[in-house]
Order: sequence, then structure tokens, then C-alpha cells
Amino acid sequence: AAPGASEGRGGNLLSNVRAVIAVASGKGGVGKSTTAVNLAVAFARLGHRTGLLDADIYGPSMRRLLGVGGQPGSSDGARLDPMEAYGIKAMSMAFLVEEETPIVWRGPMVQSALEQMMRDVAWGPLDIMVVDMPPGTGDTQLTMAQRVPLAGAVIVSTPQDIALIDARKGLNMFRKVDVPVLGLIENMSYFSCPNCGHRSEIFGHGGAQREAERMGMDFLGEIPLHMAIRETSDGGHPIVAAEPDGEHAQAYMAIAKRLA
Ligand code: ADP
Repeated sequence: AAPGASEGRGGNLLSNVRAVIAVASGKGGVGKSTTAVNLAVAFARLGHRTGLLDADIYGPSMRRLLGVGGQPGSSDGARLDPMEAYGIKAMSMAFLVEEETPIVWRGPMVQSALEQMMRDVAWGPLDIMVVDMPPGTGDTQLTMAQRVPLAGAVIVSTPQDIALIDARKGLNMFRKVDVPVLGLIENMSYFSCPNCGHRSEIFGHGGAQREAERMGMDFLGEIPLHMAIRETSDGGHPIVAAEPDGEHAQAYMAIAKRLA
């Protein structure tokens, strides 16, 4: 995107980043964070200098997903250094608050925390920043649309979610604020048995692709519901790094190649 594309409210907070890609979903629990992390690791494996910003202030998940401990330092004494894991630079509220502490804030505080995680972190020059958005359509989505020239948004959906039109709501919101929607990723697309490899099309096949086309979105790919994805994700070793030659890593890599 052209620098200054969203100068409206005080300028671009990520001027050191070539392309910012938001990963969004209509609702929680569809695997948006898992997808964001694995795509970020995939971009890094493709040789891009990659950042990962956890924009979910209330429910940050990056400490668990990246398996990083400790708190960020500050090399220049002014800005925080991002945490580093699997070749990416990452920042999340999870690195800044105690694990068990609930974050009870009103909207404006969330907005200023989000702005600080962009402006007051020494991201350095990056090729791609993946932003893990909170689910739904709220303040954070607006802040991102107004303060960052987003290259675009990727919408993660499960097959049922598609049927329930949550993804469509997300699509319409990004269109309203002039953020290009780069496409749809279907997560938990089919059940892949860890024992025998049998593929069960629990929700039928092809529905998400048809729906994406109907909504005028690209279909970027499908990721199966598989035990290994859950175990690696919740264990802090994203599957793209943990099993780099496996079929799941290849699926994420293929999507990253389409986006990069
Ligand atoms: P969201 O960010 O949409 O709330 P998460 O990424 O936290 O969702 O995923 C919710 C749960 O589902 C996590 O336990 C995660 O490990 C699991 N999960 C996500 N995608 C898959 C998948 N393709 N296969 C198996 N488990 C998955």
C-alpha cells in the first residue's frame, strides 16, 4: 500500500513495514490465531522479514502459541524489543501482563495499548506483518483500518461458520472501511484421522469455496481438523516449524506463497 494511505487520524503507525496483513474471523474459536501464527512462520520460512502482532488485547494467546517465556527488554531504552521465536518478531499483551490477570479495560485504553504495540515497539524494517485480530467487528478493526495501511485482510472460517454468515459480516466490515479482502481460508475443513489418515468430510465438501466465490472472495485454501495441529499449536511449536516437511506445513506454506 502507498505510504500515507490512511493519514486520516495521525498517520501510519507501522511505516517500517512493507505489507500488513490482518487475519480476521467472524467469531472466536475457529482457529484464527493458530492460522495467523502458522502463516507468520511460513512467511519467515519463505525468507520474508516477518512480524506478528497480537491485536487481541482482551484474549492474547501468543505466549501459549509461540511458547515464549520472559518479558520483552528494551535495547534503545525507549521502545520495547519484540520477542523472537521461529524466525519471527512478535508482540502481544500476553508478554506484558501476568498470565492469570484479566484485562478489564474500556475501549479507549484498548485502542491506546494497540497503538503502543505498533508505535513503541522496535519492529525494525519488516517485509510482512501478520496481525492476529480479535474476533468480530469492533474498535480494534476500526483502529487498524484507520491507522495502518493494511495490504488486506484474510478471513478464517470453519465450514459451519460459513453457513452461519459470520464470515460474511467480517467481509462486509472490511469492505466498508476500504480494506481489500485477500481471501478466505477454511479451517477445520475436514477431519483427518491421526491413526489411519482417513479423511471425513464432516460438513460436506466445497461449501466454503462456493460461498467464497459467491461473496466475490478468493478461496486461499483449506486446513484439516487434525490432532497434530492442535497439539503443536497449544504446545507452543507451530506445526509449520515443528513438522516443516509434513502435509499441514505444506498447506500453510502454499497459502503464504499465494499471499506474499
Ligand atoms: P481463535 O483464534 O479463532 O479463537 P485458536 O487458534 O485459538 O482459535 O484455536 C482454537 C482451538 O482449536 C485451539 O485449541 C487450537 O489448537 C485448535 N485448532 C485450531 N485449528 C485447528 C486445526 N486445523 N486442527 C486441530 N485443531 C485446531
